[in-house]
Amino acid sequence: MTKYGRRILEIVEASRSHMTAEQVFDALRRDCPGVALATVYNNLNRLWQEDRIRKVSVEGMPDRYDRMQRHDHLVCKECGRLVDVDLGDLTAQLEELAGVHILSYDLKLMVLCSECRKKYQEREGEDFESSAIIRPRPH
Ligand SMILES: [Zn+2]
Ligand SMILES: [Zn+2]
Repeated sequence: MTKYGRRILEIVEASRSHMTAEQVFDALRRDCPGVALATVYNNLNRLWQEDRIRKVSVEGMPDRYDRMQRHDHLVCKECGRLVDVDLGDLTAQLEELAGVHILSYDLKLMVLCSECRKKYQEREGEDFESSAIIRPRPH
């Protein structure tokens, strides 16, 4: 791995904010002022192909990058905000439901974040209290 590749991997693994390529570029530039945006894109792509980082794609939003460690995502349907959620490893359950052997899965739960929910309520006067937000079930 190149010097930039290693540094980019460190940045993505340390971040919990689901950085876009531009944000990774800004972070990397603090250490390596001469780096080009294309270099960041190339390295992110290579790291993703090598399964060292995850890419989270949401329609209409720039791709975001994330650590590999098992977790899933709540995605706000309105603003695209991503929040980590730990549902454990569902591979066995999903395999049973689907009846096939699965290599991996990518679960995005669409929600309205509290800010967007507030905006909706102000605009529509509707009550989203019980419907759109998923709360973890007690164990
Ligand atoms: Zn939102
Ligand atoms: Zn995440």
